[in-house]
Amino acid sequence: MQRELKWMLLLAHAPISTSWRGIILAHEGFHAYDFLSKPYDWNDPKTFAEHEVQAHTLQNGLMSEAGGEAYQKYLEKEVERLRKTIVIRKEGADSYVKSYPNRSVYNVELDHVFGPTESEFEKDIRATHTWIHAVFSLIEKDFPSKQHLHLKREFLVSLYRDAKIK
Ligand SMILES: [Zn+2]
Repeated sequence: MQRELKWMLLLAHAPISTSWRGIILAHEGFHAYDFLSKPYDWNDPKTFAEHEVQAHTLQNGLMSEAGGEAYQKYLEKEVERLRKTIVIRKEGADSYVKSYPNRSVYNVELDHVFGPTESEFEKDIRATHTWIHAVFSLIEKDFPSKQHLHLKREFLVSLYRDAKIK
């Protein structure tokens, strides 16, 4: 009987702290498990974004666990910042988020929340992923629940399209 081995290899550009290595590994591990258990067309932007919403939702929960109350406070301030500049348009019964303010540069407050970073690369990752978490939180707070998936997916699609994240 032949045993099938499956490997997941993640290469980072630079050192990352232990807690954030775990957070990123969980995100990518989710994709691996998700895809292996039910393959999907990840070249289709809408389908791809839908699975990204799930991976980021898992990741957001882990960041909340790791960062505790201090992270919650950080997140609330970031949601406030976003709320001031977000552009929304309505088409029929649905709302669409037209544009989001860019993520801010790395906020050293996150060093106190998660511990020090180990590289500029990690600062970049933390800034991007906590910003995505804040946008998701804003959507959950400000829009009816039946629009959440749509709005989160559209937000991620626009990010890939504008190549703000890869
Ligand atoms: Zn992903």
